[in-house]
Amino acid sequence: MKIVVLAKQVPDTRNVGKNAMKEDGTVNRAALPAIFNPEDLNALEQALRLKDKHAGSTVQLLTMGPGRAADIIREGLFRGADGGVLLTDRKFAGADTLATSYALSRALQKLQPDLIIAGRQAIDGDTAQVGPQVAEKLNFPQVTYAEEIVGYNGKEIVIKRRLEHGVETVSSTLPLVVTVHGSAAPCRPRHAKCLMKYKHSRTATEQQENPSPYYNESLRITEWGVADVGGEEQQFGLSGSPTKVKKIENIVFAAKEAKRLTAADKDVEELVIELIGNHTIG
Ligand SMILES: Cc1cc2nc3c(=O)[nH]c(=O)nc-3n(C[C@H](O)[C@H](O)[C@H](O)COP(=O)(O)OP(=O)(O)OC[C@H]3O[C@@H](n4cnc5c(N)ncnc54)[C@H](O)[C@@H]3O)c2cc1C
Repeated sequence: MKIVVLAKQVPDTRNVGKNAMKEDGTVNRAALPAIFNPEDLNALEQALRLKDKHAGSTVQLLTMGPGRAADIIREGLFRGADGGVLLTDRKFAGADTLATSYALSRALQKLQPDLIIAGRQAIDGDTAQVGPQVAEKLNFPQVTYAEEIVGYNGKEIVIKRRLEHGVETVSSTLPLVVTVHGSAAPCRPRHAKCLMKYKHSRTATEQQENPSPYYNESLRITEWGVADVGGEEQQFGLSGSPTKVKKIENIVFAAKEAKRLTAADKDVEELVIELIGNHTIG
């Protein structure tokens, strides 16, 4: 089984500072500490479990982002993935979910996987749109909110979904797009052997910019741009994005803004009146 995990490098939203946004309304990713999107780690674990069960299967990571997003591929390699592709090009910058899913789907058409596993949601955009959009663009069926990929019998894959009021078990044929919920099993830690093997893995650009004497071709992380994935240029990046992020700001509650309430009807009633009054509800 050829599995591709969609993994995003996200700003650690626990740390949004004042220069988080650029003048043009796009996120200033260089100014924010970057992490592996949490639910994409759950997605990676589901992929690695399938690889453990089905000999000959491979797990590749696919991430779209600036050069430093190669860290996402390395992190996946350290945990047991077989390789990855960094989709990076200035023409991808400023992409909303439509343009992001278009670029990812172009790369996936080139990779031809049997199974695509994404996280349910990224902690920065928070839209949970990319997984389903990729499925639509590839005309693949999709199973979202997966909590566990139970198994694959060569014909059908069985998946448990985490829903609001319980768990639902569904099955599908391949190819398929699955999005994984944070209630799924946590990702296994880095494996010492994989860490030793891949610690000098890098993209050609990284090797050019900061050569490592330990680097060799077998440690190359594939880098693709618009020219490698083809497609209609105006559908990539800012030009392909009907949604523009106008402004994000860091909301820090000051102590005086907090109010302690009891469960008494009077307190609850006053709170509801206040929330309606400031248009938070109603
Ligand atoms: C505060 C904020 C608000 C935003 N609001 C919107 C909005 O309302 N509408 C909109 O269209 N865009 C919005 N964006 C832009 C959006 O974040 C980007 O388009 C982003 O690349 C994808 O959307 P997302 O972060 O919501 O990801 P989600 O759709 O939540 O991601 C779901 C999954 O898709 C995969 N995935 C997502 N991005 C990538 C990637 N770059 N590489 C590999 N896999 C990936 C991951 O597996 C991820 O778990 C917003 C951005 C910010 C910072």
